[in-house]
Amino acid sequence: MLGAMNTDPRLFVDAPLSEGGELILERDQAHYLVSVMRRQPGDGVRVFNGRDGEWRAVLASAAKREARLELAERLRDQAVPPPLTLYFAPVKKARTDFIVEKATELGARAIIPVLTRRTNAERVRAERLSALAREAAEQTERLDVPVIGDPVRLDALLDAWPEGRCLIFCDETGGVPMLEALMGVREEGGDPEQPWAILIGPEGGFAPEERERLRALPGVLAVSLGPRILRADTAAAAALALWQAVLGDWS
Ligand code: SAM
Repeated sequence: MLGAMNTDPRLFVDAPLSEGGELILERDQAHYLVSVMRRQPGDGVRVFNGRDGEWRAVLASAAKREARLELAERLRDQAVPPPLTLYFAPVKKARTDFIVEKATELGARAIIPVLTRRTNAERVRAERLSALAREAAEQTERLDVPVIGDPVRLDALLDAWPEGRCLIFCDETGGVPMLEALMGVREEGGDPEQPWAILIGPEGGFAPEERERLRALPGVLAVSLGPRILRADTAAAAALALWQAVLGDWS
């Protein structure tokens, strides 16, 4: 659980973190600390790398292009969210950004764009989405940054789908109410440690042949998110929240 809100800025760093260690921050992060957050030498900064927990560091020297941090103490041990992957069909840029940001805040461990028949946003820039996910992880007190996968075609994903792996298929034409489906899994003692996945379609929804194939796949739970048609970004956030509440780390 989180302690009292620590207002020191948080940064993801791709470097080992250990007592007495030192970090050299490159230009962007130095600029953020010195020019945006107006931190000065002696101020505290929190750093995490997705492996060694969260550490308190002290800004030892600060210049516009480079800053040096000295690691002081570990504040939190490493913890990772449950093994939940969000597969989503990319939509218009701003809404795709929203999906990646909210999926990060809601604890998805991986976020993978899926190209379906009706996906009209084939161009997905993974490095841009990774930067969005990193920023969201920094701000949401996560200790890891979700993996942003390379776009995969739905057919290829299903061709390689591991036998029996559970896929929660959010079907806008209807299905078992998602909460009911998840409560059923929990009552049957479903293993939250198994790799779970949620699939959200594009603005134009799933094509009939896609729906047919998905519903025929063993391990697929075709679920409804209620009587209204939600936008893809709303559906992604709603499905992730429901999963975390029933099987994830909210309970
Ligand atoms: N034609 C609509 C549209 O353009 O908004 C439907 C597509 S909807 C935005 C995109 C995706 O959100 C769907 O493919 C589905 O995965 C999910 N979704 C939206 N509403 C849903 C609901 N009521 N039940 C289950 N999934 C839903």
